[in-house]
Amino acid sequence: GTSAAQTRSAALEEQLARDPGRFRVLTGDRPTGRLHLGHYFGTLHNRVRLQELGTEVFVLIADYQVLTDRDVADHLAEHVENLVLDYLAIGIDPARSTIFTHSAVPALNQLLLPFLSLVSVAELGRNPTVKDEIAHSRQSSVSGLMFTYPAHQAADILFCKADLVPVGQDQLPHLELTRTIARRFNDRYGNGTSVFPEPDALLSAAPLLLGTDGTKMSKSRGNAIALSAGADETARLIRGAKTDAERQISYDPVGRPEVSSLVLLAALCLDRDPRQLADEIGGAGAAGLKSTVIEAVNEYLAPIRARREQLAQDRGHIRRILREGNERAQAVAETTLDEVRSAMNSRY
Ligand code: ATP
Ligand code: MG
Repeated sequence: GTSAAQTRSAALEEQLARDPGRFRVLTGDRPTGRLHLGHYFGTLHNRVRLQELGTEVFVLIADYQVLTDRDVADHLAEHVENLVLDYLAIGIDPARSTIFTHSAVPALNQLLLPFLSLVSVAELGRNPTVKDEIAHSRQSSVSGLMFTYPAHQAADILFCKADLVPVGQDQLPHLELTRTIARRFNDRYGNGTSVFPEPDALLSAAPLLLGTDGTKMSKSRGNAIALSAGADETARLIRGAKTDAERQISYDPVGRPEVSSLVLLAALCLDRDPRQLADEIGGAGAAGLKSTVIEAVNEYLAPIRARREQLAQDRGHIRRILREGNERAQAVAETTLDEVRSAMNSRY
């Protein structure tokens, strides 16, 4: 569960502080829209921090995964370029980190076949995140891809033998499945050695930021505040966010999830303790809380937004970064696939 993963994340942070070069990171996003504050404080901030520590970072744009909960990937190329822009604007450096789309890396996708053989239909069907996504999906029936994408995600993570995955809380069941697949592959084919690591999730202080409707902030649920939104739009969205009727502001994530998620958002932008900040806002009510959040978010994002606008002038540069990232990822995937085929005795 989440609290075990938080304890584990704290232990991982200690190891990171001692030896950041020991880890290899993979994490990513679906190109379904622009990145938002949930991404930023849930995972993006950690990606940049790890890159700066000197850890090798792979950033995946999961374009095949768009098709899990819709029939057609609308505006795909545009979304992909927007993700790259968001990454660069927050500080991902393509000279040190590899940005790629998984559809451009055939050797990665080939891992899906042996991996699917290692999990049961019952295990796939139990996944709580997939169940939640099916409930929010626009489709009337569940596609085979929706059912199996967590195994595809295991290929995304294991193709580069990543052992650390900075993600939000919704990804914990998928990480568990990835660990299971790695372990079973090693047991069945490793011949006493371990071909794949069993990767850990790295949770941030905001593993589940809520959107303006009080459910998980998500690109495709119309409840998100995009990093690239304007200051006025940000203010309007935050003013409309769901809260509760109590005048006194407090930080109580279990009892008052909507109010507490707003307090946490402001606290993260201001680098403050959320409990202290809630005490200070005190009797100012939801309106006072929202004013604090709006100011904090807009100030925090101002330099990121300015950088993004500048980078958006050169689309050719964005496409070049992707081409280079895809090439690097393909080379890594081919090496791993060779190893997998040798282990499985299918290299003739
Ligand atoms: P979609 O609605 O299209 O699924 P999304 O907003 O859920 O979009 P993803 O691309 O599915 O975004 O997720 C990318 C990463 O961001 C994952 O690691 C996920 O855990 C993290 N993440 C997404 N939303 C949040 C959130 N509200 N709080 C914390 N982390 C989040
Ligand atoms: Mg999602």
